[in-house]
Amino acid sequence: MAAAVALVNAVTSTGGDDSDGALRALLRDNEFFWQQFDTRDADDFRRWGRTLRPFFEASGVEEAMALLNGLMLAVPMHPHLSDHEPHGLHIHYAPPSSRLPDRFRATTLMNLAELVVEHGLTRTGVCAADGCDRVYADTSRAGRRRFCSETCANRTNVAAFRARHRT
Ligand SMILES: [Zn+2]
Ligand SMILES: [Zn+2]
Repeated sequence: MAAAVALVNAVTSTGGDDSDGALRALLRDNEFFWQQFDTRDADDFRRWGRTLRPFFEASGVEEAMALLNGLMLAVPMHPHLSDHEPHGLHIHYAPPSSRLPDRFRATTLMNLAELVVEHGLTRTGVCAADGCDRVYADTSRAGRRRFCSETCANRTNVAAFRARHRT
């Protein structure tokens, strides 16, 4: 989930960094096989970031469902079990021999689908802070997040406090 959010923000948000180096770092930080990242695949990742953005902006569950269902038909899927570090036993969604961008697409897509099944659209969205267009996904237990970061949450709270103070 964090990987999908990081990619969408890198590619589509104001000031996002979607350089080859940033994409490689994003894969490493989210425990994908970043060693297999090939700069020729960089545009595939960028396209996928733009493809997922509308999910975070969806106004209702039906819209999000239609989007994810369409993508599930388009992205090659072949679920199978795999056992490797650092995750241990888990499900791979892409065909066994597929390249990194296909594996990334299949995994992030299924993670978003599972989040919708469990929580509808209550856990994802665009940051509520003024002037911020970054997206977020909240996998915490409380699930009350509305901001992309602590920075945006604090900035908004300070602004609200000042506004109250003035009146
Ligand atoms: Zn794996
Ligand atoms: Zn923000």
